Amino acid sequence: MKMKKQVFAEYGAPLTEISGEPPKPQGSEVLVRVGHCGVCHSDLHLHEGHFDLGGGRKLELAGGRPLPFALGHEIEGEIEAAGQDAKDVKIGRRIVVYPWIGCGECALCKRGDEHLCLKPRQIGIQVDGGYATHVMVPHPRYLLDYDPIPAALAGTYMCSGVTAYSSIEKLGPAAEESPILIIGLGGVGMMGFSFLRARSKFAPVVVDIDPKKREHALANGAAAAFDPNDPATRKGLMAASNGGFAGAVDFVGSDKTATLGYGALAKGGKLVVVGLIGGEMHLSVPTLPLKGVSIIGNYVGSLAEAKAMLDLVRKGKVAPIPVSTRPLSEAQQALDDLKAGKTVGRAVLVP
Ligand SMILES: [Zn+2]
Ligand SMILES: [Zn+2]
Repeated sequence: MKMKKQVFAEYGAPLTEISGEPPKPQGSEVLVRVGHCGVCHSDLHLHEGHFDLGGGRKLELAGGRPLPFALGHEIEGEIEAAGQDAKDVKIGRRIVVYPWIGCGECALCKRGDEHLCLKPRQIGIQVDGGYATHVMVPHPRYLLDYDPIPAALAGTYMCSGVTAYSSIEKLGPAAEESPILIIGLGGVGMMGFSFLRARSKFAPVVVDIDPKKREHALANGAAAAFDPNDPATRKGLMAASNGGFAGAVDFVGSDKTATLGYGALAKGGKLVVVGLIGGEMHLSVPTLPLKGVSIIGNYVGSLAEAKAMLDLVRKGKVAPIPVSTRPLSEAQQALDDLKAGKTVGRAVLVP
């Protein structure tokens, strides 16, 4: 079978198909035949080559990857071939790929935080990803069983799922001791909401600008829901939390939402910032020591967290997100639709 990829040759240029022979796995490498690959919002930024940091500043994302490049880090597939040093690999096994792979040598990698490695080899970010019929994975430890999660949905957990799970984990014991504030009920936010519901007997309090999303959260067990643009929200949040939250998770990541979350913390509270909308946050420095609060950033999640998260999902503890499949050849259209806000649920490419 020929290998096909949807690639961009220049940042921002339309994706085009290229084909050739699939590479042969060497050493511990495993060649995966892609069954499904989710189209993620961060693919839009990678394709454009930059990220808005706020205040007119941009984070360059161009560089560090060979062009032409295939995006795609939410990969489900089947093991097609393995190198001679890849142990315990069953050809034909269906798996999802943990994509947040590091160098394997540095202190971060050695302590299990390879998703934060400074020499990353992340699939679909620095090395060719799943907008393709095949993808190469450097070691079988990154291949995780997902049965009985539906195949079209499974890959998306390696991005939004592990991100949501890791964000809730960062709250520590506070996640189980009192209500938590969830800001932003998009795909990742709703998943975080589900993980929190699975873990804590306290119903979360939610904030979202969209009344439909607030209603959906209330119907699924939120204790209260607020519109961030309503002037009464700050007071409402204080009342709903008895004077402040022990934890808040900002799945939007804008100056407004981070400020709202920070302002809603109780003494000793934690704000976890996950979203990447952009902006700059201004805060009074003495409130950090005086309130004893912390601000924690969360970027995806570790391999151990990915496994723990999949275990929860496989037990049926997390509500599935809607997915819609489309052929790999429509990758550019899928990106365009996502940018235009026309995608309902997750778009998933099928080679
Ligand atoms: Zn993603
Ligand atoms: Zn490393």
